[in-house]
Formats: sequence, C-alpha cells, structure tokens
Amino acid sequence: MFFIFGVNSDQKEIGSFGPVICGICGSYGRYRVYVTYMCLSLFFIPVLKWGRKYYAETTCCRSLYELDSQAGRRLQRGEQTEIRPEELTLIRRGGSSGWGWAGQKRLRYCPACGYETEEDFEFCPKCGRRLEER
Ligand SMILES: [Zn+2]
Ligand SMILES: [Zn+2]
Repeated sequence: MFFIFGVNSDQKEIGSFGPVICGICGSYGRYRVYVTYMCLSLFFIPVLKWGRKYYAETTCCRSLYELDSQAGRRLQRGEQTEIRPEELTLIRRGGSSGWGWAGQKRLRYCPACGYETEEDFEFCPKCGRRLEER
C-alpha cells in the first residue's frame, strides 16, 4: 500500500466589493477579492489547508493589495460587506493603462542644464547633452 501526497497552492475568488473611489487612479472601481492557500491532499482529497492569504485587486487600474486576513475571513463568511482602507496594504500600484509598471514612463534629465522630460529623447533639446535616466 502506498500514499499519494500532493501539495499545491490554490486560489479561490471570494467576490467583488464596492464601488469605491480608487485611491490610486481616482476613478470608480470595485475590489475583486480572492484568497490563496497551500493545500495538502491525500488521495486527491484536500486534508489540510494553511498559509491562507487574502488579496484585493481593483477593477479600475488593477492595483493589488494584501487584505487583512481577519477582514478577509469576515468577507468570505458574509459578515462584512465593505473593505476599509486600513485593512489594505498596497503591493502593486496599477497604471491607468492597466499594465502596472510596464506602462510607466521613465523620467530623463539633462545633467548639464537640468532639463527634464518624460519623452524618449536621447539628447537634450536645449543644450544637446546626452540625457540620463532617473
Ligand atoms: Zn484605480
Ligand atoms: Zn541640457
């Protein structure tokens, strides 16, 4: 006789909450809340779950927060229907493009005259020096 063990991480969506005015992009959005956990299964039956973590992602700009686990549990049981700002810890700031950091422009500046631009210029349009990245 042998045992079949399996350990994997699983993710379950709890629901969406809101609307809220997003603190990141300023538009109306909702929090999509989900939980992740590690799961030990024996003969493909989950026997143990641990390492539960709750996350909330905004639907407007896809910023990701870690949600307080007490609050997450209450939301899951339906005892709480809205998310308070103090229950959230920002993990990833979303952009208005919805692609996070990839959509962010880097700031370039001229070491000679101090000219700054978000454009993808190689050289300073004022004095012709090579621009550096900040
Ligand atoms: Zn937003
Ligand atoms: Zn310059």
